[in-house]
Amino acid sequence: MSQEEGSQGNVSFLAEGENILLVDNRGRRYLVELKSGGEFHCHSGVIRHDQIIGSSEGSEFRTASNAKFIGLRPTINDHVLKMPRGAQVIYPKDLGAILILADIAAGQKVFESGLGSGALSTALLRCGVDIVGYEIREDFAETAISNVAQFLGQEALQRYHVSIKDAYEEHSDGNFDRAVLDLPEPWQVVPHLEQSLRSGGILVAYNPSIIQVQTLRRQLSNGPWAMVETIEVLHRSWHVEGHAVRPDHRMVAHTGFLTHARLIES
Ligand code: SAH
Repeated sequence: MSQEEGSQGNVSFLAEGENILLVDNRGRRYLVELKSGGEFHCHSGVIRHDQIIGSSEGSEFRTASNAKFIGLRPTINDHVLKMPRGAQVIYPKDLGAILILADIAAGQKVFESGLGSGALSTALLRCGVDIVGYEIREDFAETAISNVAQFLGQEALQRYHVSIKDAYEEHSDGNFDRAVLDLPEPWQVVPHLEQSLRSGGILVAYNPSIIQVQTLRRQLSNGPWAMVETIEVLHRSWHVEGHAVRPDHRMVAHTGFLTHARLIES
């Protein structure tokens, strides 16, 4: 059962076959697939899956030594951080920003490349788009498809059209509303998008290095692109405990830069 099926509509009880999170009192999260007769083992003891199956989401479970766990369905944030990875994923803080920068909405036709582990694909498909996805490595394409199906269910694959293709080569697909790129040389894809993206369409590219951004920006400035901007998303959590209220000492200070642009009539 996918995470989405389990969390939709009136289904409020945790069911066999679902992946759920067990969260301990220190906030540590364990992803567990519920199986009748199964057991979750950790340093503080055992919880039988049969204790969990049939309980409502948010219930509390205790081991024999009284260690407390809460059972919850994973969010897309948990899924992305815990899913099997081939390539490096785009982190949730950037996924959220990409959905808004690209103005993603149900029914759009989106070009995506590469697919990597399918984190971005999952976020896009969940909004109800159709994806034409190019990935150069077959093993990564398979990981992406299986991660998408695991979180969104098999039906989502009807809107996920994956090809093993090199996005730097000219493509015959077209009429895209949006394009999202996460590959090493996005500037090599830009000339093809000038043919395949519709006028007014939006491109968003994710790049870890500012040197990549510089080359991409140069390419965009030589073509029919407007409203070009590069941003980064800084996400700093806070420690809030009694009178100790301050930013956490550690943060993920860098993931990638987001460059977005709109295609205009040339
Ligand atoms: N956005 C993905 C991660 C992508 S990692 C996620 O969120 O999970 C970058 C991917 O680009 C890798 O899978 C790599 O194989 C692929 N790639 C690199 N060059 C490519 C090319 N020329 N055409 C298509 N895919 C390419």
